[in-house]
Amino acid sequence: MTAQTRRPLYIRMLGDVRVRRQVGFDPEPRGSPPYLCIDFRTLHTCLGPLAGAADSAPERRVHRLLSFQRYLHSSRLLRGPPQQIPLHLLDEDYTGQARCMLDKVGSWNFDIFLFDKFTNGNSLITLTFHLLNQYGLVELFQLDVVKLWRFLVMVQEDYHSHNPYHNGVHAADVTQAMYCYMREPVLSKYLTSCDLLIGLLAAVTHDLGHPGVNQPFLIKTDHYLATLYKNTSVLENHHWKSAVGLLRETELLSHLPAEDSLNMERQLGSLILATDISQQNEYLSRFRTHLDQDDLCLSHAHHRHFILQMALKCADICNPCRPWELSKQWSEKVTEEFFHQGDIEKKHNLEVSPLCDRDKNTMGDIQIGFMSYVVEPLFSEWARFSDTRLSQTMLGHLGLNKASWGSLQLGQRQTSGPEEPAEPGGSGDPGVTTASGGTGPKDIPQGNRGS
Ligand SMILES: [Zn+2]
Repeated sequence: MTAQTRRPLYIRMLGDVRVRRQVGFDPEPRGSPPYLCIDFRTLHTCLGPLAGAADSAPERRVHRLLSFQRYLHSSRLLRGPPQQIPLHLLDEDYTGQARCMLDKVGSWNFDIFLFDKFTNGNSLITLTFHLLNQYGLVELFQLDVVKLWRFLVMVQEDYHSHNPYHNGVHAADVTQAMYCYMREPVLSKYLTSCDLLIGLLAAVTHDLGHPGVNQPFLIKTDHYLATLYKNTSVLENHHWKSAVGLLRETELLSHLPAEDSLNMERQLGSLILATDISQQNEYLSRFRTHLDQDDLCLSHAHHRHFILQMALKCADICNPCRPWELSKQWSEKVTEEFFHQGDIEKKHNLEVSPLCDRDKNTMGDIQIGFMSYVVEPLFSEWARFSDTRLSQTMLGHLGLNKASWGSLQLGQRQTSGPEEPAEPGGSGDPGVTTASGGTGPKDIPQGNRGS
């Protein structure tokens, strides 16, 4: 099987195409209850070994931030609406070190883990607030800063901090990457303030309320979300609806004309739904066709929106394109989340999902397959669209990181005995040809990696 035929196989297995074909895509009608009141902690409480882990730190943080809100609210009443929000007001949540880091927020080497430490675990709030403010979007859209702050606090809280990977730090990382992409010259000169606001909000909320398990898991456990969204883009629909719920609950956009805020909600949904990695092939082939025909005209809103979709997709799976030290940490976190799901499946006698078996899969195998069949094709096209130093840097890291995983895999095999025979027709790539470890491309799929 060639790489060309493996990729579609891999992509198809990321989502349950069979189920999608039976059901068809049927977006949730507008006017449905905007806030789902979902508590996925129930899922963890019932099934997960991490169940019941009391996490009082976020509560403390929220208390502190709410105190800040009260302060800000009173100061706002006294002094009127602020023009630029002085970030030093964030006091202990915003140290000098974090401020220094934000001076280089457009750097591809930006260490979001360090930034999260410097902000006492409030990286998503602090980063987003900074970017919105830097672009002047708070003033331009006349966003009520108290509502905005409340919205960001609630968003960060709705990311489950006990998820090893799909937590607020991942959302902050994606937001930082999205910012880097929106600054690229080929795109930035065309983006409107509305594009910037929607692009950032989509990055911030794109995994909101992620339960730490993937769509196939929700389907096979008859989770009500799978039923609600008819087995189609279950997680992405949930993220979108959760984001809309918080926007409406905090009334962040309620001062805008109803038509505008509804349109922004729809665009937000369109961007978030694009992160469903099971539809990667469709987006990638459309992107490739546009590039081949050289017919992208970014003065057209629908073309800009499509590129924002591609940018968010890139941002969502850019971990392998980061410097090794950052990339490796993400690999460890996502593998931990996969294996945690596998542990739950074993415990409940469910079929273990591909790549989720800690006894059969290795981090290196997972990473090399993911890089080869999902990341490389996407970022190669992105580099055609935006042929810049950033794109070359990302592809450079991708190649180096893949080689590093290959070396690590090779080292492990040499220390653990004779190498296992490669799968017939394999390319010789250690990450995609090992037969018994379940690491061939058929085992790579993980929709939640890119969701
Ligand atoms: Zn994500």
